[in-house]
Amino acid sequence: MNPVLAVRGASMAYPGGVLALDRVSLTIEEGELLGIVGPSGSGKSTLLNIMGTLDRPTSGVVEIAGQDAALLSDRRLSALRGRWLGFVFQQFHLTEGLSAAENVATGLLYAGVPRRNRRRLALEALARVGLARRTAHLPHQLSGGEKQRVAIARALVNDPALVLADEPTGALDTANGSAVLDLLGRLNEEGTTIAVITHDLGIAARLPRRLQILDGRLVADIRQGEPV
Ligand code: ADP
Repeated sequence: MNPVLAVRGASMAYPGGVLALDRVSLTIEEGELLGIVGPSGSGKSTLLNIMGTLDRPTSGVVEIAGQDAALLSDRRLSALRGRWLGFVFQQFHLTEGLSAAENVATGLLYAGVPRRNRRRLALEALARVGLARRTAHLPHQLSGGEKQRVAIARALVNDPALVLADEPTGALDTANGSAVLDLLGRLNEEGTTIAVITHDLGIAARLPRRLQILDGRLVADIRQGEPV
């Protein structure tokens, strides 16, 4: 079976000589819930952008759906990305002026889903994140934790093979952050594959697999139950 996503020997050199990633290799299998953990400046965002095929590494290979992303045209790559990956960001990135349901439905805009099905799928995704009673609310009528749940519903609505969540609790207080982590854990138990990028060791400790990154290098790959 192909992994959901594989990075093989990826390096990223930025102009000015910063080696933000240094020969990183990792694979994510279907059904995993993992953390990519490291302090600020260690290369997490760079790795996320590469894994999300938003950026190309200077060298090395990124495979999604078993395909080398570098061999695909921009158009095919964005179609594959839209089908295969869901993104969750620290600052939610909801569109003000659109209801929760409309925000979630935007996750289907490029997936070729007919308009009449988009609303139904959006409502189903909102129910999965516990927001069945907030579908008509506008972003400014929602708490931070609720906004992040809408953003998670938007990432899920297209049933992606992998959800990439970049510091998903970073803008939330402890209680709401903890609730969002619980939700990600529950979605994972229901079958969603999720990678969480975080600098927070407390969050990382709650995830079954942790990839530690330091100075652009992958320094550890720890699974729950193994000695730290
Ligand atoms: P993290 O997400 O862990 O904070 P980043 O991936 O943002 O780390 O950054 C890793 C390193 O690469 C840092 O030294 C950072 O300053 C550098 N870096 C990130 N993006 C750029 C860029 N666009 N141009 C130059 N250097 C960059």
